[in-house]
Amino acid sequence: MNPFLNPVSSIPLLRNYFFDTRRLNTNSSEQIRKYRNKMFLRTLQYADTVPLYHKKYATAGLLLQDIHGIEDITKIPFVSKPDLVAHYPNELLPQNYNRKNAHLVSTSGSTGKQVSLYTDLSIFIGGIGALVRTYDQLHLNWRTSRIANIGNFNPNMADSTAENLFYSKASFVYGKNTRFSINAFLPMKEIMAQLDRFKPDIIYSYPATFFQIAYYKRKGLGEHINPKAFLTGGSLLEPYTRAYVEETFRCKMHNVYESVESLGAPMAFECDEGTWHINYDFFHIEAINEEMRPVEKGKRGHIVVTRLYGKATPIVRYTGMDDWVAISEDEECTCGLHTPVLKGGVEGRKSDSVVLPDGRVFPAASFASLYSILNDLKTRKVKQFQIVQKKLDEIDILVIIDEDLRNVGPSLDVIFEKIKEIHQKKAGPNVQITVREVQDIPSQKGKPAPLVISHIRPEKGYKVIDE
Ligand SMILES: [Zn+2]
Repeated sequence: MNPFLNPVSSIPLLRNYFFDTRRLNTNSSEQIRKYRNKMFLRTLQYADTVPLYHKKYATAGLLLQDIHGIEDITKIPFVSKPDLVAHYPNELLPQNYNRKNAHLVSTSGSTGKQVSLYTDLSIFIGGIGALVRTYDQLHLNWRTSRIANIGNFNPNMADSTAENLFYSKASFVYGKNTRFSINAFLPMKEIMAQLDRFKPDIIYSYPATFFQIAYYKRKGLGEHINPKAFLTGGSLLEPYTRAYVEETFRCKMHNVYESVESLGAPMAFECDEGTWHINYDFFHIEAINEEMRPVEKGKRGHIVVTRLYGKATPIVRYTGMDDWVAISEDEECTCGLHTPVLKGGVEGRKSDSVVLPDGRVFPAASFASLYSILNDLKTRKVKQFQIVQKKLDEIDILVIIDEDLRNVGPSLDVIFEKIKEIHQKKAGPNVQITVREVQDIPSQKGKPAPLVISHIRPEKGYKVIDE
């Protein structure tokens, strides 16, 4: 049955579509503050009916009447990834919840244990404004543009759940034949052929997938793949990939920050000015340190997420996202939006950080520095790369070379020497850096290969670099 044939779900969808999208442009900051508090208190009341949260709050002695608004959020216990795992499947929904309406959604499990939680239509309908806002701010029409989503459509992945629960049924909102989905893990030439037939205006995918598409475009494939914009998420977009893709298509890439927990709605997105705006009327984002205390404003910390809308499994002070962020509370951007922002974007997963013998920890984005080298040398012959930290004092930089460009421009010796030099400078003399050419860099389970793989876990006492 299509739930949108029923006005109970289609009317809120349309209302949210029109009103939520524009909220940050039309409401005063005082109105938004009140709205956030109302949504937050409502979310908290709901969370308290879910056994996982109810038990946590009872154990902590938390009384909901002591919470008057978001300013009291630090009194509320955190919920971690292991908490979700331990309380799955029976304690992630209210006892009286009609399970027929809930759909399971899982993380890819590419880093550690797979986490599963429940979503439902209220989460899609509630978050539609955050999604459409991203397109609006980029001057793209969400309804009429031809959008290709190259993602993970295996069962229970965010993309496939979104497709089954929402997109396959909500086509009355957007134009006919304007949506196309394909699995990112199919052979690349097949993806190219299908995209070429679809002729997308907008492509949404992982950074690594865009790199591959751009690579084949440079080789003459995909004549009709000439989009107006790229939206990317799911992993870190580093500057070399960005330059490689944007130069190939003469088309800009924009980061959207989403996760299984935010299903369908970006927590933040990058506007035309390169600012990462937080959709703070949909999500409350905090940054904490290793002692689980809020970091100073603007300092780098570990992300904590609260979703301010929707039912199914609530997300309140959730620490399981594993990303580094620095939040600046009050930023006026030339794009016209005035929101808290993620300073410098999301800097990679905590588990993908580079840890150095002197105690410094580099998020992936601030360690990988190939872009400046390859730009200075004016070469695009690197087809893919990855930094692998094998030991505290041993780092390999793996590089795949574009065969057609192997003998064009600066020699591999020069390039590898420069790559080694810049990373040696960052890591210091006590770390052995080896730059190696390889033929393949394997994907992770259900996700493209990450920029950094670290076999070292930062322990207490390590200082995160904040530069
Ligand atoms: Zn902006």
